[in-house]
Amino acid sequence: MAERPGAEHGSGPPAPAAAGAGAVALGAEIAELEDRSRFDEGGLEQRAERALAAARAAGLPELERRARLVQADLVRRRGGVAEAGRLAEEIHRWAADHGSRCLLARSHFVLAAVFQELGDLSLALEHAVRSVELLPDDAPAPTRIDHHARLADCLGLNGDLAAQDRYDHVLRLAEEIGDVDRQLLVLNNRSYCEILTGRSSEALRWCAELQDLAARHGVPLRVGRLDTVGRALMELDRLEEAEAAMLPGLHPEVLDASLDGDAGADFLLTLTEIRRRRGHLAEARETLDECVRRCERHGLTSIRVRARREQAELHAAAGDFRAAYEEHRLYCDELMELQSAERDARARALQAMYETTEARRQSRRYRELSLRDPLTGLYNRRYVDEELPRQLAEHPGGLTVALLDLDHFKRINDTCSHEVGDRVLRTVAELLQEHVRTGPDGAFAARLGGEEFLVVLPGTEPGTAVRDLEAVRRAIRSHPWDELTRGLPVTASIGTAHGGSTPADALGRADAALYAAKRQGRDQVVVGG
Ligand code: GH3
Ligand code: MG
Ligand code: MG
Repeated sequence: MAERPGAEHGSGPPAPAAAGAGAVALGAEIAELEDRSRFDEGGLEQRAERALAAARAAGLPELERRARLVQADLVRRRGGVAEAGRLAEEIHRWAADHGSRCLLARSHFVLAAVFQELGDLSLALEHAVRSVELLPDDAPAPTRIDHHARLADCLGLNGDLAAQDRYDHVLRLAEEIGDVDRQLLVLNNRSYCEILTGRSSEALRWCAELQDLAARHGVPLRVGRLDTVGRALMELDRLEEAEAAMLPGLHPEVLDASLDGDAGADFLLTLTEIRRRRGHLAEARETLDECVRRCERHGLTSIRVRARREQAELHAAAGDFRAAYEEHRLYCDELMELQSAERDARARALQAMYETTEARRQSRRYRELSLRDPLTGLYNRRYVDEELPRQLAEHPGGLTVALLDLDHFKRINDTCSHEVGDRVLRTVAELLQEHVRTGPDGAFAARLGGEEFLVVLPGTEPGTAVRDLEAVRRAIRSHPWDELTRGLPVTASIGTAHGGSTPADALGRADAALYAAKRQGRDQVVVGG
């Protein structure tokens, strides 16, 4: 098989504008790893591992995950598709939770390759589309090329002609920045897609460009690419040219260059077919033997199975139909076994990825529920305990906390019913929600218990906050309660405090102000000291 689209490339998001010089250097190293991870090079795993450890030690969670995503992509290229998918999904969730756009784009990019390999082209396409949509505006050109190129591959493999414009676009981009490696990669993938969709003449046109460009820059074509060229020519029955084009790949250095042995075995299988079809049976046999040795050495099951079919063809070409029949039977049995194993592996991988996503969704849902008050849907005291210290620390200029307690609420319960009391509480919660929604960023309302509420207004001037709270008080008093409470008014007393060294300090002063509001006749806002 030719070098498959998705078997390489990878570059990703730019380095963040991190504060320290160490963080900047680490960001640059990770960006380079992302950039190189698309090429079949050694040593990247170790560098990614070191970068991951450094990011973790420095407490840089986004860089840590970018390094992990590089690892995931390398794992995928070495055959660990399911593991890569699980890792990429996990990082994707983190990116979504933390609003990290560049990491989102990059995880979609890796997931597109994962699904491409799992044979789910429509999911692959969805991820590829998102990876392009989410590309940051200032993404470096190589990243831009990689994301658009993967989208082109997914479209091309889906047989969509829209791939053509995309390919033109990325080839232009790569040419503009003089990135020969990426031009070669895109030309190879483009050609490979054309072969798969049966457009061999088109494929050959891109192969010619591929060879031309490589020759102009003195870059030798690797086996995967020679395989693409050989196949395009073979499909057009130009067998002699096909063999001649492939010969440089027989050089041991070229043949053994790919790390997993996959590309070399694929190449030899194509060459066997060309030689057989030319009638050079002895050479074909030798080539196939070498292919089979490689399959066995590297455990390449699927190429081994395809080699059996070629073996049967060779027997038939030599007139040994009995041996051809036996080999063909073996081929059929092993193919069925392989297909069902692949189906199982695919199903397991998809299931594992689905479970990770689902488990995370559930745990987020439970966490969210545990921070809400069931009666009103407002945040509860647990949320306040977690959130208030954080907000106090984040707003050194001060934030306003306000305690709000309904006046003579017991009377409503006693005169009407507990159920009416509940409905009053829910309505008050809605009024509070409306006010905090239009308040400053990070403002929230919580129910602390009974008929007592808390409003937090971060980063507002004390004067503005008090005006907001006055508006809340008026909204409660002037709400049309009559029908619900049979004429009983609903009002609230509010005590505020601005700033505070600790949550207990701020809440204590607000509580004292609330007590003063009650004492001074209720239905009023008292500003705490
Ligand atoms: P004040 O103006 O001094 O605050 O008087 P109050 O009646 O509002 O205060 P008090 O603390 O005496 O009574 C609060 C009442 O709130 C008592 C309790 O029955 C009622 N309550 C507490 N939680 C709930 C609830 O979840 N639903 C309903 N309907 N009532 C509740
Ligand atoms: Mg009360
Ligand atoms: Mg009370």
